[in-house]
Amino acid sequence: MAPASGPHPPAHPGIDRHAHLEGSLDPPWVRRTAARRGLPVPASLEAFWRGEAQPFEAFIEAFLFGAGLLDSRAAVRAAVEAAVLRLGPAPAGLDLWVSPHFLVVWKALLSLDELWRGLEEGIAAAGRQGVPVAVVLDAVNNFGPKHGHAVLDLVAGGLPPFVRGFSTGGLEEVPFREWAPVFDRARRAGLALAAHAGENGPGANVREAVAEAGVGRIVHGVRAAEDPGLLDFLAERRIPVDVCLASNRVLVPELRDPSAHPLPRMLRAGVRCALGTDDPGVIPCDLGSEWAAARALGLTDAEMSDLARHAAEDAWSLRTPA
Ligand SMILES: [Zn+2]
Repeated sequence: MAPASGPHPPAHPGIDRHAHLEGSLDPPWVRRTAARRGLPVPASLEAFWRGEAQPFEAFIEAFLFGAGLLDSRAAVRAAVEAAVLRLGPAPAGLDLWVSPHFLVVWKALLSLDELWRGLEEGIAAAGRQGVPVAVVLDAVNNFGPKHGHAVLDLVAGGLPPFVRGFSTGGLEEVPFREWAPVFDRARRAGLALAAHAGENGPGANVREAVAEAGVGRIVHGVRAAEDPGLLDFLAERRIPVDVCLASNRVLVPELRDPSAHPLPRMLRAGVRCALGTDDPGVIPCDLGSEWAAARALGLTDAEMSDLARHAAEDAWSLRTPA
C-alpha cells in the first residue's frame, strides 16, 4: 500500500515538558475517590472538565480539590501514571512539578517519606516503559521567600535522585528579585531553576526572574511576547520556555481565542519553546492535543520540528544527572 502523499506534521516526541503532579489525576479517578469519601466535586472543577474558561481563583479551588486527594503513596503513584499515560503512543520523558510543602505541611495529607515513595514507585513504573521522569519542586510565589525557604527546609534531609529542579508557581505577586536568595540556595543544593512567569503577571517578570533571580527556564512566559525586546533577550540567552496551550486558553484571559496565542511569534523570534500539559486533570488535554493545537496555530513543519527538538534538548528528564 502506498503511503498517503502530501505534507505530514512531524510526530510529536512524547515529551511533556511541564505537568503538575497535583493537576494530573485522572478525572474519573477524582470522581470515584471523591464519591467514596462523600465529597461533592466543586462546581468549578466540573466546569473546567466541561472545557469552560473561568477566573484564576476558580482554578485554584479546582486544583486544590484534586490535590487534596493525594493522601497516600498509591494516590501519588496513580497521579504519576496518569501523567505518563498522557504522553501518548511513544512516551519519552516527563518533567513533573510537585508541591511537597502543600501536600506534607500545609494540608498534611501524607508524610514526606510517603510522598517520595509514591513518586519513586510511579517513576520506577515509568522507567520500566523507558520513560525518564524528572521532579521539579514547586513553591508558591505569592507566599513569599520565607515559604520558599520552608520548602527547601522540608526536603533538606536528602533529595531523592529523581528531584532535579526548583521552581516557583502561583500568583506572580512577589518580585523575583526578592526570591533570589531562595533560588541561590536551591542552586547550591544542586537543583536547576525554573519559574512560572509572564502568565498571570506582566512580561517584565520573565526578564526579572532570569536576570535578577538566575532562573534558567520559564514556564508559560506568554506575556513576554508583548515585548519583542524581551523575546530577543530569551532567544539570546537560550532560555527554555514551557508553553501550555490548553492551560493558557482557560487561564490567561487575553488568550481565550486560541488563535491569539503568541507561540508562533515566540518561535519565530528564536525562543526555545516546547509544549507541556500543565494541569490536564483539571483542564482536560494530553500531549497529542497540545501538539494538534500548536499545529492549528499555523506553524510550519520546520517550526513543529523546532518544538520537537527543543522538547528533547532542554528536558530535565533527559538530562544526565550531575
Ligand atoms: Zn504550571
